[in-house]
Amino acid sequence: VKSGLFAPDEPVESGMSGPVTVQAAAGSERLKIGFSMDTLLEERWLKDRDLFRAEAEKLGAEVEVMAANGDDALQLVQAETLISRGVDVLVVVPHNADAMAAIVHRAHAAGIKVLAYDRLIRNASVDLYISFDNERVGELQAQAITELVPRGKYVYIGGAETDNNAHLLKKGVFHVLQPLIDRGDITVVYDEWTHNWKTDIARENIKTALDVNGNDIDAVIAANDATANEVIKELEARGLAGKVPVAGQDADLTAAIRIVEGTQTMTVYKPIQSMAQTAAEMAVKLAKDEPVEIHRTMSNGKLEVPSLLLTPIAVNRETIDETIIADGFHSREEVYSAA
Ligand code: BGC
Repeated sequence: VKSGLFAPDEPVESGMSGPVTVQAAAGSERLKIGFSMDTLLEERWLKDRDLFRAEAEKLGAEVEVMAANGDDALQLVQAETLISRGVDVLVVVPHNADAMAAIVHRAHAAGIKVLAYDRLIRNASVDLYISFDNERVGELQAQAITELVPRGKYVYIGGAETDNNAHLLKKGVFHVLQPLIDRGDITVVYDEWTHNWKTDIARENIKTALDVNGNDIDAVIAANDATANEVIKELEARGLAGKVPVAGQDADLTAAIRIVEGTQTMTVYKPIQSMAQTAAEMAVKLAKDEPVEIHRTMSNGKLEVPSLLLTPIAVNRETIDETIIADGFHSREEVYSAA
């Protein structure tokens, strides 16, 4: 909290009937965290927002959230607004890994530290990065699918090229696929990014993949559940749903339901609760200029950013109960009653 801006919290002499405590206006003494989000249009980010806020509030901080719904210019303006409103620390889920570098400079100029949440900001002196191991997410997807389909024609529907995670996911996928490609067991017959993670683009991608291959494909790895959803809708339209294995990530409720139904093979569950909790703790430390102990780093093109990467978990029909349902990420009822 910047001194001078807020009412003092200590007892003061009133000059009348002894000491009274001056009550600060509600919340004015609390640490303020600015949370600049790319989007709230996907299920997972609503969870991130709510869990992060709840965890921060437990630690006595308040959170102001702004979401730009995929608009780079708007996200910059929103983050600047948070800075000018005097937040003590800025937590950012960048829509565009490079474009948000500018906001790190602005924040630092105002004495505010920046925590990159889930997605790394590139080419800027980010103070801390918290995410899941995104390369591992890609590996888990590819491992699950190659076990089922050790030979055949693969389609890769990637994420947004502007999202650093999309590159890490792809790296993980191809880390597993490459030896099989080299042996000639697997051919990747289609491989495309999904501009801005947009579902209509994902739909166009899978249509093209199926069209150029005369519907003859054996497996699809999709960068997340929202894109997997489009893949499965298109497979359904062509009578192929449930016949072609599909991988996604995020453990969205709709994906969990599709896994039970048998149209989606697997998803990757990332316990957002743990990330939100850790991020809130770290954000409070950064706000107070307290040291944070981090032993791992991730290169962002400018420096090795101190990073904390949590472990993602593969989920299929056999393991859904003991993972996302046991964790309370979705209830048994939600997952099974719709199926
Ligand atoms: C996140 C995914 C998410 C995707 C689209 C990625 O950076 O790691 O969980 O599905 O963005 O929002």
